[in-house]
This record gives sequence, C-alpha cells and structure tokens, in this order.
Amino acid sequence: MSAETTFRRTKIIFTLGPATESEEMLEKMIRAGADIIRLNMAHAKHDWTRTVIRRVRAVSQRIGRDVAIMMDIKGPEIRTGDLDVPLELKAGEIFDFTVKPGAAAEPGGGGVEIRSVDVNYQDLVNDIKVGDTVLVDNGLLRLEVLTKDSARIRCRVLIAGELKSRRHINLPGVKVSLPSFTEKDRRDSIVGLEEGIDFLALSFVRMALDIEGLRDFLTLHKSKVRIIAKIEDQSAIANLDEIVAACDGLMVARGDLGIECPFEELPVIQRRAVRACLAQGRAVIVATHMLESMISQPVPTRAEITDVANAVYELADCVMLSGETTIGKYPLECVQMLDKISRRIEAEEADSGGREPAVFTGDRMKVLHSAVVLANEIPHSILLTFTRHGFMAQGLAALRPAHAPIIAFTPSAEVLRQLRLLRGVEPFLMPLASEPDITIENAITILRREHRIKPGDKLIVATDIVSQDRLVDSVQLRTVR
Ligand code: PGA
Ligand code: MN
Repeated sequence: MSAETTFRRTKIIFTLGPATESEEMLEKMIRAGADIIRLNMAHAKHDWTRTVIRRVRAVSQRIGRDVAIMMDIKGPEIRTGDLDVPLELKAGEIFDFTVKPGAAAEPGGGGVEIRSVDVNYQDLVNDIKVGDTVLVDNGLLRLEVLTKDSARIRCRVLIAGELKSRRHINLPGVKVSLPSFTEKDRRDSIVGLEEGIDFLALSFVRMALDIEGLRDFLTLHKSKVRIIAKIEDQSAIANLDEIVAACDGLMVARGDLGIECPFEELPVIQRRAVRACLAQGRAVIVATHMLESMISQPVPTRAEITDVANAVYELADCVMLSGETTIGKYPLECVQMLDKISRRIEAEEADSGGREPAVFTGDRMKVLHSAVVLANEIPHSILLTFTRHGFMAQGLAALRPAHAPIIAFTPSAEVLRQLRLLRGVEPFLMPLASEPDITIENAITILRREHRIKPGDKLIVATDIVSQDRLVDSVQLRTVR
C-alpha cells in the first residue's frame, strides 16, 4: 500500500451532542477518522462541557488516537423575548420590536392594537435604518422596518409565520454594535481553558479587532489555544482579508451566512474565503448542512455529495458536521461518508501537480517551498518534518503538496492536536533529540514499526540541522533502507 492511498488529507470535524456523546459512540467516531470534536456553547451547560471534554480525552487515550477539541462560543446574538403563546404573524400586518420594558401595547394610528415582542438588544434602534430587513428564526419570518423611535422599531410583515419565544434575529447588512466577545463567551472560555481545549471558535467575527480582543484574553490567561474566526455576516465578508490575517483558522459558517447574505452569494463567498486562507497560509473549515439530509436518512442527497466534493476540490482543510452528529440518526455513517468522498476526490486531484504557492515572505517559507516542489516531482514521496510549535507543518500544509502526505513529529501533545486542523498533516508524538540526525533516525524507526513507510520510499525531510553551532533550515532527500 502506498502512503497516499492510506491517508486522508481533508480533516473531519463533528459537533458533539446527544447522538454522539456516549463513550461507545465517541470511540466509534474517533476510530472512523474524526479529527476534531466541536462543542457548540449555544446549547452547552458547564457541567456537561467538563464531563464530555474529559470523556473525549479518556477515550482518545484508551484507543491511542488523540483528537482535538474546538469550543465554539456563541458571540453576539440578538434574540426575541418570551411570549406567553406563539403569535401567528400575518402578511401585511404591522408589528413592533420593542427594546424598552413597558413599551409594548401602545396603539397605532386609528386605535388599532399593534402586536409586539421584546428584543434583548437596546441599541437595535440605533443600528437599524428604515427600509432594513429583519429576519426571525432562521429567516422563516421576514419583516421590513417602517419607522423607529427610541423604544421600538415598527415593521411590516413580508413573509408570514409563527413567532415563538426566544428566536434568533438576523439583520442582513446591518452593522451591529454588540461586543464580539460577550460575558457568556468569557465564562464559557474560562471553562474551556481549564479543561484544556485546543481551539476557540468565535462566532460572528466582524473585523480583525474582534480576534485581537480574544487574542489578548488568551495571552492574559497564558493560553496557546488557536483562534478560529467564524465568518457569518456581510461585515465579515467586507473585512475578509484582515480577518484571515488575524486568525489561526477561518470557518465559513454557511448557516448564518446563508441568511445574512443573498443566497446566490454563498458559493462565491465560500470560494473567495477558501482562496483568501490559502493565500495567507491559514486553515479553513467549510461548515453547515454538508450532509443535512443524513439527520434522518442513511444516505446523502446527490447534491450533498457534490457539495462535500466541492470543498475538497477547493482544497479546504476541514469539512464539518453539525446537526448531523448532534441529533442525527446516522452520525457514524456521516463521518464514513465524508471520509469516503474526501479520499475519492483527493485521489482524483493528486495528479494535478499541486497549486501555485502564494507569495510567501521569509527564507523559511522558501525552503519549505523547495521541499514541496521536490515532493511534487517525486511520485509516492512523503514529506517529513519536525516541529515544536507546529510552524514547519503549518508552512508545508499551506503550500498544499499535490500528493505527498506531511508527516509531522512533535514533542508536544497540544501541538499534535492542533495539527489535526491542517490539510494533509499526519501528526506523530515523539521527543526530539538534541542531535537532528538522531531525531530523523528515531522517526524513521517509528514509521517503519507503524508500517507507515517501507524500504525504497522517498522521504523529503524538511528540518533544521546543526551546522557549526547554528541551526540551519534544510531539505534532504532520503531513501528508506
Ligand atoms: P452555528 O454556526 O452552528 O454556531 O450557528 C455555524 C453556521 O452559522 O453555519
Ligand atoms: Mn452561526
């Protein structure tokens, strides 16, 4: 078996929920090839969070495959308040969203009673303009703003439907001035840091400053957790390049994006976002509705298969499952499905010769680039690297070698888990010897023992070597004996 047929490059993230949280299911999901487990804090209690993180670690340890944990914090969210009974909103009806307690039930012109609901966000009346659209409950209800004052916005119902308590509000194109990292996010993150999570995904990132704020918080807590920026609205698209530069990885959060933007923009945004990440050497995740129909059916639609394939063709680092694995009936089959589709498309693309590298500055990137050029020219070659902080592996992954896997040895379990995010990187844990040559020999011994390499295989080693007491970046070509 040659290396490239045994190893899947595209990484799989799944969201943990009732369908997958048992020890038995976790074991199956990890064995099936899940790389990262996502905790959606919009629905998670702290006790549960601590319990499942410890469970994931225990299962990983027992079966000898360490996966990463991504805590997805909710970010700013505008919600409607409580209602005693759901309201049936009719098309054409005039309806109020009130931001001050007691502002409700004020008659409109002609003494006709106007129905209303509270909104949990005072500044809504300042952020929104007459003519803007208000979408409620995943866009099921659509309203248009007619007038506003300090207590309410008065709307006309465009698309009718039932309004239930505590529904999510989307405001397409509106610059919302809510803080990006909320008090709830802070409390959730502290729990995550205490339990040793690997990634924090920040929802509704609107600009680089949002990420820098979170970065300061992490630095304050002496944490090396990596930041995933979820792009979910039009502000994020307008500031895409600066957001990509500021984050460690980007998530194309298609659920909210599909509400906040005209739907036909979604594939355009996805492709641009993936390219922006490739250009700047950042990881990128394609998320939401990838296998949505598998929540209730054992096989995906043809369109879903093609959507997953598209993400792999675009060279995304990860594909992600949400409802499919939290409440779905076929969570394991979903992971197997992503695995199968990814491998097929990767095999198809392996002959494409890789991609033209982005403009990378710095000598190290140039050296890594030469390693990838070499790998692309030698069939069945394997890239081998050694990394304390993950940077060497990250650099190689960013160059998207055409067929060679990137085997990365690191002495740090945290770095190993963070490398689960990167396309094409297969991490191994090993202490690094002080003599680089011995480190390489030790790695080859491990890879041989694991049947990962065999005599005659070509290894392209990108590592630093000691030369007259200095560390020098080097690329070596070695044939396995
Ligand atoms: P969510 O984010 O699942 O936290 O809403 C993903 C998305 O919006 O696609
Ligand atoms: Mn979202």
